[in-house]
Amino acid sequence: MAKTKYVYFFGNGDADGDESMRAELGGKGANLAQMAKKPLSLPVPAGFTISTDVCQEFYKLGRKYPAGLDKEVAEYLDRLEKTMGKKLGANDDPLLVSVRSGAAISMPGMMDTILNLGLNDKSVIGLANKTGNERFAWDAYRRFIQMFGDVAMGVEHAKFEAIIDEVKSHRGIKEDTELNTDELKEIVTKYKKLYKKEKGEDFPQDPKVQMWGAIGAVFGSWMNPRAIKYRQLNNIKEGTLKGTAVTVMAMVFGNKGDTSGTGVCFSRDPSTGKNEFMGEYLMNAQGEDVVAGIRTPQKLSQLAETNKKIYDELCNIRNRLEKHYHDMQDMEFTVEEGKLFMLQCRNGKRTGAAAVKMAVDMVAEKLITKEQALLRVEPEQLNQLLLPQLDPSAVKKAVEIAGGLNASPGAGCGQIVFTAEDAEAWAKEGKKVLLVRKETSPDDIAGMAVAQGILTSTGGRTSHAAVVARGMGTPCVCGCAAITFPGADKIKVGSKTYKKGDFLTIDGSTGKVYEGKVAVKPASISGDLEKFLGWADEIRNKSVRTTPSGKKVKGFDVYANGDTPQNAKDAFRFGAMGIGLCRTEHMFFDEPKLTSFQKMIVSEDTEARKKNLKAILPYQEKDFYQIIKTMEGRTVTIRLLDPPLNEFIQAADSKQLDELSKKLGIDKKSLAAKVAALDEHNPMLGHRGCRLAITYPEIYEMQVEAIALATAKLEKEGVKHDVQIMIPNVVSYREVEQIRAQAEAKIEEVNKAKKVNLKFAIGSMVEFPRTALIADKVAKYADFFSFGTNDLSQTTFGFSRDDYGKFIEAYLDQRIIEDDPFATLDPDGPGALMEIAEAKGRSVKPDLHLGICGEHGGDPASIALCYKLGLNYVSCSPFRVPLARLAGAQAVIKASQKK
Ligand code: ADP
Ligand code: MG
Ligand code: MG
Repeated sequence: MAKTKYVYFFGNGDADGDESMRAELGGKGANLAQMAKKPLSLPVPAGFTISTDVCQEFYKLGRKYPAGLDKEVAEYLDRLEKTMGKKLGANDDPLLVSVRSGAAISMPGMMDTILNLGLNDKSVIGLANKTGNERFAWDAYRRFIQMFGDVAMGVEHAKFEAIIDEVKSHRGIKEDTELNTDELKEIVTKYKKLYKKEKGEDFPQDPKVQMWGAIGAVFGSWMNPRAIKYRQLNNIKEGTLKGTAVTVMAMVFGNKGDTSGTGVCFSRDPSTGKNEFMGEYLMNAQGEDVVAGIRTPQKLSQLAETNKKIYDELCNIRNRLEKHYHDMQDMEFTVEEGKLFMLQCRNGKRTGAAAVKMAVDMVAEKLITKEQALLRVEPEQLNQLLLPQLDPSAVKKAVEIAGGLNASPGAGCGQIVFTAEDAEAWAKEGKKVLLVRKETSPDDIAGMAVAQGILTSTGGRTSHAAVVARGMGTPCVCGCAAITFPGADKIKVGSKTYKKGDFLTIDGSTGKVYEGKVAVKPASISGDLEKFLGWADEIRNKSVRTTPSGKKVKGFDVYANGDTPQNAKDAFRFGAMGIGLCRTEHMFFDEPKLTSFQKMIVSEDTEARKKNLKAILPYQEKDFYQIIKTMEGRTVTIRLLDPPLNEFIQAADSKQLDELSKKLGIDKKSLAAKVAALDEHNPMLGHRGCRLAITYPEIYEMQVEAIALATAKLEKEGVKHDVQIMIPNVVSYREVEQIRAQAEAKIEEVNKAKKVNLKFAIGSMVEFPRTALIADKVAKYADFFSFGTNDLSQTTFGFSRDDYGKFIEAYLDQRIIEDDPFATLDPDGPGALMEIAEAKGRSVKPDLHLGICGEHGGDPASIALCYKLGLNYVSCSPFRVPLARLAGAQAVIKASQKK
């Protein structure tokens, strides 16, 4: 077996590795190699990188290095010393190095860098003599002891700081930079004493011992709690990376006086995306000084005046790096006595707005293709662009009165109300309201839905208010403790009182609360974002793929779930091609439909039931008319009634029973008997969905009639329409066969009566394993399938979405399962059933239309799975439509790259 190469050299205009070796050299090591070699040939101090393979081996072997590593490192150190013409830590003219960590993905949770390694009691004097700068040498030595002691050996940082502070206060000095050579020498002596006390041994004088100590610390840091946590939080699964690499490279010094310095810069503005070179520079400083914020750095633009030569050189490098990497670069550089050195470059992190702007600009500059541009933006980043925002100029003049937790982003401004009822009533009058409460409960939903924002005085980021607000895309600040409720119609914030109807403004992204009206800019898709998402649509529309069962499928659409004309408008504005799920249950909760429907439920016979349903029909017709009209000819998939009947007839105590019996006009005793009869142990698996229509066909018949009448009216008005009817909770093809026949009979009746010729696609939801397994039989009677992946996941896993919170954390922590099945569609369970349903369904109808309407329709990984399985569309909440448009395009591009 050929021996693995563990160490890679760079320097002298050449390198063993390059940017393609991120997995082995880490991002930092790979880019240093790339910068050093042709064609870039940038000034990079020489060094070598020990690969991530060593880290992987290190842990496999129980924290031991693989055989032969010591020899290989010795060889490369020798090469580095020859390149530099100096020996590591030599007494007269020492080579000093930095030891840096770096994984394939940049991970701020890992080890800090150790600078100036190679200094000891003798080489510090050599360095002083050679540079003629004694103060510099001793400053470097004290920095090194501190970093090595802290980072590699775990001596508390604060203990070193205490020593500096003591010396400074003794001498009446404020700044580190004012320390003179003698004081620095004194600090070094004290540091070494501290080190000995803490570690029970002298500070290592042998440079090779120092180097191996630092290397060991870097590999050890891969598994420190900070790094593990970071990977967890960023969803980097253990085992997907080999570990960290270690880069040992020659030091250059930015702290040699006024012709030296260090800086960080970005090739474009990372917060706006503007094509403007920017950054910060600190004269006479080393490494982390810029970031540490001890001294205020100058703007890069100032460097253009103070040192034009260096600035021009940097500009040139910036252009060449962008051309090379085809992306915005984040760079570190140091100037040593007027000579520029590059110490790091990487693709820079950016805000959502910047990501979109840069992607669009770079296509115009012909730096990247549209496909590359689409892959540049994380779908989740788009959320930042789609929230209502406070107008920054208005914020400057606004009065901030309190702060709470930033629970749901976006800005909301409105007249304050303290109950959900008021919120609804005022909103109906066309007022903009801000709902202010101690906390919210499920009873408040309707009021929350119409509010511009929600503000609570108690509760955290997982409180009811926060969770619901995020689901609705409504701004929310919660846990704002400064608010008290001295009476029903006012709140107090500190010494100020605000009455119902006064204006307040919240910023759910910062948690701040402002007095009065602060201008809010609504989210809109325009400019760069519109162009960008247009490209995404193009890519999806022209996509062609072959499903696992061998069928060719063209295009991949994004629909939205929406129950109201307002939802439909939102969906439309965000670019949805249709409504994939229009639920009808909430329509029955509005009065006067509710009373009639309740009467229907408690009816003794079919005649009474039909009579009560008839009363609802005109209202349903109006509901459907409005939503179909709003969509202007785009598909609307209307789902017939789904929830269990007992949700409509609720009487928790005798008082409620009394009220309900009065309202429905039946005596209390029979009502009590009805309530008892409707009670179910497992309503979610109970008498619901199309099971209602098997027992009471007249319910769905009424709904279908209302749909047909609404459509007929629109047809006569010359309005375009494309209505589909969807049957929920199907487990047998017989359900679809029977309900379809009943529906078609109703549609025929309407056609005759209204002299029209309407036809509706009638489809089936697939939300239980059995339905997927008999999909060929169902497909004979269904024109389309819509996968209800929430229920499909519940019933495939046997996890209840309402109860799985008790154990899911443990399942994820112990990696029993990899992802939360309700956040990411599981490919092996529900995904496998969908694959079966696709194959069986299309074996009967080759062009059977398939979609998904569960919440997974807004999750990028799930969207990619839906693409692979041959679905024609995904449907998600209106606010996630832009994200889904992008995620869908990315799935198309990535699938074509795999080929
Ligand atoms: P991080 O990953 O935290 O950015 P780095 O390895 O980039 O850590 O190093 C921290 C700081 O030290 C940076 O400012 C870097 O430029 C500087 N630095 C690293 N190696 C050297 C070196 N050989 N000479 C001078 N400065 C260095
Ligand atoms: Mg860095
Ligand atoms: Mg369902």
